[in-house]
Amino acid sequence: MNRQLRCIQCDNVYPLDDRRLRCSCGGLLDVHLDLEQHASSAELVSEFARRTSSDAPCDQSGVWRFRELVLDLPANELVTFPEGRTNLYALDPAPFGLSALWAKHEGENPTGSFKDRGMTVAVSWALHRSARALICASTGNTSAALAAYGARAHLPVFVLIPNGKIALGKLSQALAYGARTMQIDGDFDDAMRAVEQLAASHDLTLVNSLNPFRLEGQKTIILDCFMQLGASLPDWIVVPGGNLGNTSAFGKALIEMKALGLLSTVPRLAVIQAEGAAPFARAAERAFSHLEPIHPETIATAIRIGNPVNYSKAVRSITFTHGVVTTVTDAQILIAKHELDRQAIGCEPASAATLAGLRRLTSEGIIGRGQSALLILTGSLLKDPETTMALASGHVANLGIALSPELDACANPPRLVPSDAETIFDIIREELS
Ligand SMILES: *Cc1c(COP(=O)(O)O)cnc(C)c1O
Repeated sequence: MNRQLRCIQCDNVYPLDDRRLRCSCGGLLDVHLDLEQHASSAELVSEFARRTSSDAPCDQSGVWRFRELVLDLPANELVTFPEGRTNLYALDPAPFGLSALWAKHEGENPTGSFKDRGMTVAVSWALHRSARALICASTGNTSAALAAYGARAHLPVFVLIPNGKIALGKLSQALAYGARTMQIDGDFDDAMRAVEQLAASHDLTLVNSLNPFRLEGQKTIILDCFMQLGASLPDWIVVPGGNLGNTSAFGKALIEMKALGLLSTVPRLAVIQAEGAAPFARAAERAFSHLEPIHPETIATAIRIGNPVNYSKAVRSITFTHGVVTTVTDAQILIAKHELDRQAIGCEPASAATLAGLRRLTSEGIIGRGQSALLILTGSLLKDPETTMALASGHVANLGIALSPELDACANPPRLVPSDAETIFDIIREELS
């Protein structure tokens, strides 16, 4: 399929291999696909389905399996684990008055977050283009994914992370996989500004979601769900919003799927932000007249972002899907996390914002009775052991959150007991009675 870089603001086009990060007008660039050239939607669906039973790495990958809509690269040039083979779990829709509810667990990717879906494309493309070194700003998961794919591609990796507030699981991955890690004196937005400047003026390849190839990979979350649900999608897709890469990628996927005739009706996107890090929700209240960057604060560190780079693409997604943007408190995020954890699905706090957001939107009647919804769980429970332990040990005050009876009920601390079997059995009997 024919591809070009195209500005979403002024429609200016550039060759796919142009190294610029933005259009000369400052607008964001899309990898624009010429969909006219393509096979019928029925042929695409049967080809995608056929590949799930193929042994080839490019078919095993839940990203490259959809390569017609991702990127054309020779199979032997792909940097792939393979990624994207994540499960779709059916949850009980009854408490929300829904007809069906699913959770797509992107925490089951090789490095434990959906970032792998974008990174396999960005790093494969960078390798194809003979990149010298890769760089990103990260709240944690991007650095873990980049460190992993960079190591596989034998390319040097540099990551800039905020001072503190990075979950231990993520930082330890980046360090273990050999990324040169710099903790900056500032927050994620400062790190993002610095890497964009560095990549614009030096021979360093930026792989944040400002890189449009990342978003081509992340589109496959939607394609994968579509295939898992028998070539259909639910009424609503609920996703946490930070730098708004997924929001942008999902909208682009739905625009293309509609154009290809894969969808007759387009699902609505519901983007959930943390109350203390909600510049997109605030902009939505102003009918997207402008974005006002804020100083973000939330325990959901993956979405602790005050100046999302993909803002204008995300607005396009909300407009196209008649989507909504809402907020939830940190306490609501923790309670939702507890509910997912207890079903042994589990996730990191940012991902649980989806369930908290679903609760808010159904109680407000925005998501109506009898509708169906899909939650995108973006990262693994193991990413943020500190938060899980604080919740389990009843120490949410350590996270700066006031203890409530509801949060107190989430506690499940380990108990110190003597080592003799009789005493232990007395405790077990007491617990079982
Ligand atoms: C990166 C990340 C997010 C935020 O996604 P955006 O695409 O930047 O909005 C949410 N959850 C997790 C676990 C992440 O790693």
